[in-house]
Formats: sequence, structure tokens, C-alpha cells
Amino acid sequence: MDEEFVMISALSHYMYCQRRCALVHIEQAWVENVFTAEGRIMHDKAHEENFEIRKNIKIERGIPLRSNELGLNGKADVVEFHKDEFDKWIPFPVEYKRGKSKSDNSDKVQLCAQALCLEEILNVKIPCGALFYGQTKRREDVNFDESLRIETKETIKKVYELVMTKITPKAEYSKKCKECSLLEICLPKTFEKRTTVANYLKDIIKSSECE
Ligand code: SF4
Repeated sequence: MDEEFVMISALSHYMYCQRRCALVHIEQAWVENVFTAEGRIMHDKAHEENFEIRKNIKIERGIPLRSNELGLNGKADVVEFHKDEFDKWIPFPVEYKRGKSKSDNSDKVQLCAQALCLEEILNVKIPCGALFYGQTKRREDVNFDESLRIETKETIKKVYELVMTKITPKAEYSKKCKECSLLEICLPKTFEKRTTVANYLKDIIKSSECE
């Protein structure tokens, strides 16, 4: 059943590069670089303490998330619960990122996906959350408005369709490849003509057998 669920982390991979999403979620490939290592350390720290209470804010960390309706699962770094004027605790997801605010919506879509899971689990409307960026040490509020919700649901659908095809898109070399941790196994310049790492390895084995 869970094989048909999209992981929340796949959404930002997809928005960064469809091939990257396929390499991770179809071919199960992963390579750590300095950027992913910094991001992982930030996430681990965010998940360390489980529960704390501040005035009118409760904080929980590392919460498992799931939406049966959207076919989505994952984990929230931090969920704050803010007490409203009716004494009701409203969830406020906070996602930690190593870098700085991006020009695309990938981080917002990932955060919104967390909110959609929490809404289904807790049967509550979540109006906003926040992204915390390690490089700038800035926390930016994100409103879960209708257009972000639509973009998030469309991205979930596209990721699902990509993963179900089990076909890795061809590489297209661009400047973002330089920061991609998968550069050395993706080999975007080499793979402009081939689709999968597996096929590439098969070609290498075949040519060595012929020698
Ligand atoms: S190296 Fe470039 S083409 Fe390959 S997965 Fe990364 S961003 Fe995509």
C-alpha cells in the first residue's frame, strides 16, 4: 500500500529536477554532499527534543505524517501548536532548510504538503506555517492560500505519475547541476542520450565483455 504513497520529500526533489526525483525515488540512488549533509544535520537537530511547552505555544518534533486522501506520507521537522482566542490549539508546521529563501515554490509546496496531512489527521484548518533558513537565520511565514494548495496537490499528482512510470527522465544539464549531490551518478552530460544509470552500467559491462 505504502508503495503507492508519495513521500513529502519527493516534492521538492521533483520541483528542483524531475530526473533527481526519479533517481532517488525510482532508482533508489543517493549521494551525500556538503549541502545535503548540512541539511541532514539541521533536520536531526530539529527532531532531537520531542516535546516542550512555551506560553500559548506547544512544540512537537519529528511527527510522522500521512494523508490517505492524497496518497502522501513523510515527517514534520517541528509542529508548533498555537492557542487561539477560543483556547483551541492550531497546528503551525515549521520546516528547517540549510540555505536561503528560494525563488521557486519548492520549499513552500513541501511545507503545504505537511499542512495538508496534518489537516486530515487532526481534522482542523491550518492557515499558515513557517520556513526557517539556516544560512540567513531567518524564519519566513507561509500562508497556505488556495493557489499554493492547488500547486501542492498538482505536484503530488505529477510525482505519483512519474514514480509509477518507473522511467527516469533524460538529463538536461543546467547550472543547478553544479550544486546537485547526484551530479556524479547522474552524469547529465553523459546521460543526455541514455535514460537510466542501470542502462549505463549495462553498456559499460557489455563493452568490457567485448574487449
Ligand atoms: S545533476 Fe542535474 S540533471 Fe542530474 S539530477 Fe542533478 S540537477 Fe538533475
